[in-house]
Amino acid sequence: MYDRVRETDPAVADALAGEVDRQRETLAMIASENHVSPAVLEAQGSALTNKYAEGYPGERYYAGCEFADEVEQLAIERAKELWGAEHVNVQPHSGTQANMGVYLAFLDPGDRILSLDLNHGGHLSHGHPANFTGQTYEVQQYEVNPETGYLDYEGLHEMAEEFEPDVVVSGFSAYPREVEFDRVQAAADAAGAYHLADIAHITGLVAAAEHQSPVGTADFVTGSTHKTIRAGRGGIIMTDGEHADDIDPAVFPGGQGGPLMHNIAGKAVGFEEALQPDFEAYAAQVVDNAKAMAEVFRDHGLSLVSDGTDTHLVLVDLRDSHPDLSGGTAEEAMEGTGLVLNANTVPDESRSPFDPSGIRVGTPALTTRGMEEKAVSEVAHLICRVLDDHDRQPVLDEVSEQVDALCADYPLYEGL
Ligand SMILES: *Cc1c(COP(=O)(O)O)cnc(C)c1O
Repeated sequence: MYDRVRETDPAVADALAGEVDRQRETLAMIASENHVSPAVLEAQGSALTNKYAEGYPGERYYAGCEFADEVEQLAIERAKELWGAEHVNVQPHSGTQANMGVYLAFLDPGDRILSLDLNHGGHLSHGHPANFTGQTYEVQQYEVNPETGYLDYEGLHEMAEEFEPDVVVSGFSAYPREVEFDRVQAAADAAGAYHLADIAHITGLVAAAEHQSPVGTADFVTGSTHKTIRAGRGGIIMTDGEHADDIDPAVFPGGQGGPLMHNIAGKAVGFEEALQPDFEAYAAQVVDNAKAMAEVFRDHGLSLVSDGTDTHLVLVDLRDSHPDLSGGTAEEAMEGTGLVLNANTVPDESRSPFDPSGIRVGTPALTTRGMEEKAVSEVAHLICRVLDDHDRQPVLDEVSEQVDALCADYPLYEGL
């Protein structure tokens, strides 16, 4: 594999091949990750990486853009069909750049953002002090109800009326429940604010109607294209015709240079795959699998934020069941067995964000491997074993063997 890279650069070839093997031989449960198809991989590795196509289809600053135009137009049309948006920009290099496009178009420095706290499931690009948003705008953050783990829509409404933000951000990185976008919209309306719904994690679920859609409700919808939807890596912005003229120039030239046309090709191919009838079944299985995992965890006596899930992820709060085990230690013990997931903060976090009290478990990648409820329940049992015996090597060795067997039963990238 990667023979041509190997000829010039054996070190990188080894790392690339190592990564394919790593993905094959471990179970990816980082909720933001997935495995794209070989077709998407090929599109992303195409000669379009060479092409400068500053501008938009039909209005480029460079010659030779006919194929770039074709690919970008296809990505746009397919995205419109998937999410039912009037206007789509497929150029953001990442989800963060998609949010940046919206902020640049509609906020001035010092304007106000009301968003969910990072520790409660928010995202850096929603106003964290370490991100340009926290440094450029005035930010206030809402929280989930610490008792229930659900969003506190009434609290959000009151905060919006008091803080008078310019934009209210919804859409999260670690929120296991369905977001009621109309209630966020009502809060934004009460403050005369825009509503940005960042569906980064759930783009695929929304496309398949497994989660309600904010398109048509929120002023702007941003997303990533490589999480629950298995397209080329990057971001996307959706809006209505009214805001379109402001969004496009904010993305280019406002916040980016030339589009990553090879990634846009990957987006187009992944969107085409998501338009096929089997994608709805995939998305439904992702959610069913997360629910199956949640059930195993609950039966095992683990505390789950919001006591379950409506989406692709489960957030386990270890403090009740394993008070001496941090999320970081759990993550490390899991990784040693081939269970790849991440430590995560939980509402009312009492440890540090670098070694928090929870773990986040996602099912999109397992589902891509073909797993259904029975297999993911097995995986959930393995997670429970590691939590209970994270320092007992014989147990970890046994778990490791079972992970190997599951990886063999649900192979990935055969023939790559
Ligand atoms: C993943 C994510 C993003 C996008 O992240 P990038 O790494 O910049 O692509 C944006 N918002 C939320 C809520 C996310 O979870």
